[in-house]
Amino acid sequence: MEDIKQSLKKIVGSDYIATDKETLYAYSRDASPEPGIMGDIIIRPGSSKEISEILKIANETKTPVWPRGAATSLVFMGAPLKEGGIVLDLTRLNNIIEIDEDAMSVTAESGITWGKLEALLKKRNWFTGFIGPGPGYTSTIGGAVSVASVMYGSAKYGTACDILLGLEVVLPTGEIINTGSSAMKKSFKHTRYGIGPDSSGLFCGDNGIMGIKTKITFKLYPYPEYIRYIHYGYENFNQVINCLHEMASYRIASDLAVVDNKIGVSWGGSKRFPLHGLIKTYSEKMADAQVEFLEKINNKYGGEKGKEYFPKMVLEDKRYEMFPMSGRLGNFGASCNKIPIKRATEFHNMFLEFMEEYKREARKHHILWEFYAFISGNNIDILPTIMVPTDKKENYDFGRKLWKKLVQKEIKSGAIHYWLGKVIGDVVSDNYKREYFQFIRNIKQSIDPNNILNPTLLKL
Ligand SMILES: Cc1cc2nc3c(=O)[nH]c(=O)nc-3n(C[C@H](O)[C@H](O)[C@H](O)COP(=O)(O)OP(=O)(O)OC[C@H]3O[C@@H](n4cnc5c(N)ncnc54)[C@H](O)[C@@H]3O)c2cc1C
Repeated sequence: MEDIKQSLKKIVGSDYIATDKETLYAYSRDASPEPGIMGDIIIRPGSSKEISEILKIANETKTPVWPRGAATSLVFMGAPLKEGGIVLDLTRLNNIIEIDEDAMSVTAESGITWGKLEALLKKRNWFTGFIGPGPGYTSTIGGAVSVASVMYGSAKYGTACDILLGLEVVLPTGEIINTGSSAMKKSFKHTRYGIGPDSSGLFCGDNGIMGIKTKITFKLYPYPEYIRYIHYGYENFNQVINCLHEMASYRIASDLAVVDNKIGVSWGGSKRFPLHGLIKTYSEKMADAQVEFLEKINNKYGGEKGKEYFPKMVLEDKRYEMFPMSGRLGNFGASCNKIPIKRATEFHNMFLEFMEEYKREARKHHILWEFYAFISGNNIDILPTIMVPTDKKENYDFGRKLWKKLVQKEIKSGAIHYWLGKVIGDVVSDNYKREYFQFIRNIKQSIDPNNILNPTLLKL
């Protein structure tokens, strides 16, 4: 390992490499309740070329490489999945490269945070539509494309991969390629398709097993200055879901979500299920008309009109702080289930039954629960969360066990989890159809012959 360290030091310089125990420990975890695993070397490259050199050495020496954005993952990834290897911290790659106003695209380095990207684009009157997951002040665009993140803007604009036009990727064997229109010798950054198979798709949601994303090109939309909030309170879950389904079908609101105030801490609002949404558009008239349209839908289902402060706080003012704030209640034992919208009632009931089944033990072990659900295009993302206590080892172990039980149950019931770290990836892999698993394994073997990138993820 000392030889590898010396070779790597020559690539990035001594300021950007560490092997001391404290740093290895700091890089051993993500934001999940899972205990950490230490690598051998932490490295912070500053360019695609440096990453290419690092991967070539890792290949020659068959050393595992663990790509890491901000490590805000909640299912154990972005850290070593087994002991040893090189943790590749990508957060020095944090600049916008180009805003192409003609092509309506922005190209940025993959380690830039959503918060920084949004702030810089706003100065030029642009935005990306989907504007990041819960912890957007810290999480990176590279991490989000790697797990096909959803959340802010997803009701209208979909996932981080739906706004993607192309990538620069360093392959596990060190070659640097471009996907989308930039794959061509003479090219512009304007379209993802038309170059043969959708090669960007290979890296979308790959959870970092197929290559290192170094530059990312996203679509741009004019910055929407006219904002409206909607808030309707419901007492009946089925009704709120039917209303959300109809609202979501029009792709008018950029955000639509619902909370269950009876599970865990109350989020506010006068009813048990506050439906809250955000409209972003381009004139007063358009904004008013869109609110009126959605209000008509709500009136069919009988939601009670609530105050603006609630959606304003959750979806705008405290957007990137809301979820991290509730981390004080324990470590997030979260799962994020994509399901067709009307199946939400089934999953909500499943969670209620699960809580009932473990009620006594959960109380004994200081477990808190949370429930949030939001629209992502034609899906709803259900987040039943077990707040895993950190007060006593016994409670912590129980919380983690309960969390994994719930994840198993959800996947077996047809939920699609896009964060596929160690905790969820293994279960997903076990539930693949046999031919599909073989197909993925063949691709992985041809692209990463020494299996250096995130080995063991998805049982590969
Ligand atoms: C409080 C809280 C709320 C959250 N809310 C949401 C939410 O609303 N929606 C959501 O989708 N997620 C959410 N998450 C999970 C997480 O924040 C997101 O998945 C986020 O997009 C991960 O980005 P990251 O930079 O932290 O990536 P990391 O966690 O560092 O990495 C994620 C995966 O991608 C790989 N990777 C990272 N960067 C690259 C790269 N450049 N090239 C190749 N592989 C790479 C890593 O190896 C890892 O497998 C939440 C997390 C927390 C703690």
